[in-house]
Amino acid sequence: MDLDYSPQERAFQADLRDFLAEHLPRDIAAKVTARREVSKDDMERWHAILNARGWLAGSWPKAFGGEGWGPIEQHVFEEECCLAGAPRIVPFGVKMLGPVLMQFGTPEQQADLLPRILDGTDWWCQGYSEPGAGSDLASLKTRADRDGDHYVINGQKTWTTLGQYANRIFCLVRTKVDGKPQEGISFVLVDLDSPGIEMRPIRLIEGGYEVNEVFFTDVRVPVANLVGAENEGWTIAKFLLGHERTNIAGVGFSVQALEQVKSLARQITRNGRPLIQNTLFAARLARIEAELDAMKITNLRMLARAAQGGRLGAEPSMLKIKGTEIRQAINDLARRALGPAAAPFPSEDLDGNLSIAPEGHAHDAASYFNNRKISIYGGSNEIQRNILAKGMMAR
Ligand SMILES: Cc1cc2nc3c(=O)[nH]c(=O)nc-3n(C[C@H](O)[C@H](O)[C@H](O)COP(=O)(O)OP(=O)(O)OC[C@H]3O[C@@H](n4cnc5c(N)ncnc54)[C@H](O)[C@@H]3O)c2cc1C
Repeated sequence: MDLDYSPQERAFQADLRDFLAEHLPRDIAAKVTARREVSKDDMERWHAILNARGWLAGSWPKAFGGEGWGPIEQHVFEEECCLAGAPRIVPFGVKMLGPVLMQFGTPEQQADLLPRILDGTDWWCQGYSEPGAGSDLASLKTRADRDGDHYVINGQKTWTTLGQYANRIFCLVRTKVDGKPQEGISFVLVDLDSPGIEMRPIRLIEGGYEVNEVFFTDVRVPVANLVGAENEGWTIAKFLLGHERTNIAGVGFSVQALEQVKSLARQITRNGRPLIQNTLFAARLARIEAELDAMKITNLRMLARAAQGGRLGAEPSMLKIKGTEIRQAINDLARRALGPAAAPFPSEDLDGNLSIAPEGHAHDAASYFNNRKISIYGGSNEIQRNILAKGMMAR
């Protein structure tokens, strides 16, 4: 198998590097590289810059304003953006709802909503999880009862990422209570300024605010906001989760983070020698690097198969597990390298440079705690292991 990029893919990579060197705002890249919080304004600015170049939704078909990128171009794009310190594209509109609307939406929904995702008019968030429905999503209880040409929604969603910036939420709701749980779920689009919606912040362990609880009390939503058929939302839910798990390996993040740890371990000394020369530390570093190399190759093998139209089995689950474990191991190594300097501070204080950590590493402890989430969201690693096991047993 040829794991090298083709001449066209290399040309695209070169274009992308030039573009990022010229157009990625330095202040935003500096925040991303130092793992500081990226503001709503930063994210919107970056989206607008990409959109002007036609690259915000590169994998969308040309008919809908994209470039029709295949998996390899998408991968090159994600990797180069990570390495340059670009913020991640907020996925809810571009990577989740967009593909759903193209596949299941009416022509009216497509014509109305897709351009609004691209030009930033709408900021979507994801209303799937509930307090009693995470891994077991089909047990969701938020109800949508039909009343003429409206649904009336009552219930609660939780863990709604960046909902505080959103004006719209796509939700899974229960439209039928009897029968199999999966057969009574619908996918609806809700305006967050509708009467009866309340959003409350959830503080994460590192002190940051990026997730919310959303409460619905008699919220009226036009039936025209239903996507697909009533009670057939489970098919859409699964389709969307497939898209949520793309680029799950996050190789670019790990490559960049590992380079930073190496540079840190060259600066820090223990017993008069650079930490990177400490046998135990060097062995830990080497182990992670070897695992990362193996993951890079597995990822490329999977992409090559997908690009040739091959069916993927349980590989995305494997990449999710390994990718998140590697990222967490890198965080752990940074924490060890920093020693007492990794003692956590409230994020707001760090922006005032209260930290005693070496320059560029003030937020490493916060990042360590924040990244506990990556093995949970998008389907926890335990669930991915179940999927892998089922795939293997079925052979
Ligand atoms: C930071 C963050 C952001 C998120 N953002 C969003 C968002 O924007 N929108 C949204 O809808 N959701 C979001 N989520 C929710 C996320 O998808 C769920 O947290 C996840 O699916 C796990 O569900 P749960 O939290 O209910 O845990 P549970 O399902 O209650 O699981 C608890 C533990 O038990 C394990 N477990 C559960 N069932 C099994 C099983 N059958 N076999 C083995 N182990 C099992 C789990 O792996 C986990 O370790 C977010 C979560 C986090 C942490």
